[in-house]
Amino acid sequence: NSSLHELDPDVAAAVDAELHRQQSTLEMIASENFAPVAVMEAQGSVLTNKYAEGYPGRRYYGGCEHVDVTEQIAIDRVKELFGAEYANVQPHSGASANQAALFAMAKPGDTILGLDLAHGGHLTHGMRLNFSGKQFNVVPYHVDGNGLVDMAEVEQLAKEHRPKVIIAGWSAYPRQLDFAAFRRIADEVGAYLWVDMAHFAGLVAAGLHPNPVEHADIVTSTTHKTLGGPRGGIILAKKEFAKKLNSSVFPGFQGGPLEHVIAAKAVSFKVAASEDFKERQQRTVEGARLLAERLTSPDARAAGVNVLSGGTDVHLVLVDLRDSELDGQQAEDRLHEVGITVNRNAVPNDPRPPMVTSGLRIGTPALATRGFTTEDFREVADIIALALMPEYDAAALKARVTALADKHPLYPELGK
Ligand code: PLP
Repeated sequence: NSSLHELDPDVAAAVDAELHRQQSTLEMIASENFAPVAVMEAQGSVLTNKYAEGYPGRRYYGGCEHVDVTEQIAIDRVKELFGAEYANVQPHSGASANQAALFAMAKPGDTILGLDLAHGGHLTHGMRLNFSGKQFNVVPYHVDGNGLVDMAEVEQLAKEHRPKVIIAGWSAYPRQLDFAAFRRIADEVGAYLWVDMAHFAGLVAAGLHPNPVEHADIVTSTTHKTLGGPRGGIILAKKEFAKKLNSSVFPGFQGGPLEHVIAAKAVSFKVAASEDFKERQQRTVEGARLLAERLTSPDARAAGVNVLSGGTDVHLVLVDLRDSELDGQQAEDRLHEVGITVNRNAVPNDPRPPMVTSGLRIGTPALATRGFTTEDFREVADIIALALMPEYDAAALKARVTALADKHPLYPELGK
């Protein structure tokens, strides 16, 4: 019964170093967040020991009476949170949720219509090397010259290819999608509409973004991005998909559910229903808006920095560096040097290879969770803009980052 430090100092040292990294730098990867300590407590609990194949009340193992309680709480809470008729909280990840969802709607060889990866879509929406691209006939749609999803193209491709499934959702897109328009097109061609809200689920929960559950046949999500819970996935749907989705997740693609993670999801859904969460999501969106504003101001524009679509409605900003002397890799390195973590990201029709890119994706969820105010986000935006200028003072900018990190201690209860 040794502690981690006693039993395995090597792993413990790396975990401690990661805690220090998170505490001392500014996390602005758009898909990341900081789970509350209570969520991590549930995730690190004895529930990790339990096998529970099946669903609450119908398990293939004995002794499931307590995990039945936590899983049912998770189901009930997430249905309530998003107004869904059905929920499956067992997918191990967003990609697992998407795989189970897609196979509940379509079979290999069927046609699916999804946003091109290079234009902001996700791997599971039809990328060549992913299961979705290997097993389905993928027709990609794109963003237009203004960086907005081209609904005329979606309609035209849908009519031409009669897909079984139309996918609305993204990993790198700074605006809200028109779910009603997607629904209309899906109905016109007899397709299912699947919305992947992995990125913006927290905004939906807070009422700051249209709710796809009202329009889609099936909605999938991760629980660890804006939603702020443990790493995992969920599927929401209309009742008529219940049987198909349940069997697609288990035994279709998964074995025993991760009941410790499911309990942690339940805790995070409770948090997501709170007023504090709503206020945090408001700061998230406002922080992104301030960042877009700063990165489109005259000095940034003069340095060749642009923002795709001219701004943002959500928790992230896509920086376009095609006119800058920096490529995506160099810009990511610059920000890393001053203590800000972001990821480089291809812009539509990017002239550079995917490992280099000409853009950055910068998100505000983690800093909002850390307590950043509007003023703090203004300061962060200024630091980022200055770091992307031809002349920059790395030491001065790093000192400003450290001051912000010190102002908002992260996980003080876990030590330093
Ligand atoms: N769907 C979207 C839109 C995503 O952005 C992501 C993650 O980046 C996923 C699904 C996959 O989630 P996971 O990494 O948990 O498999």
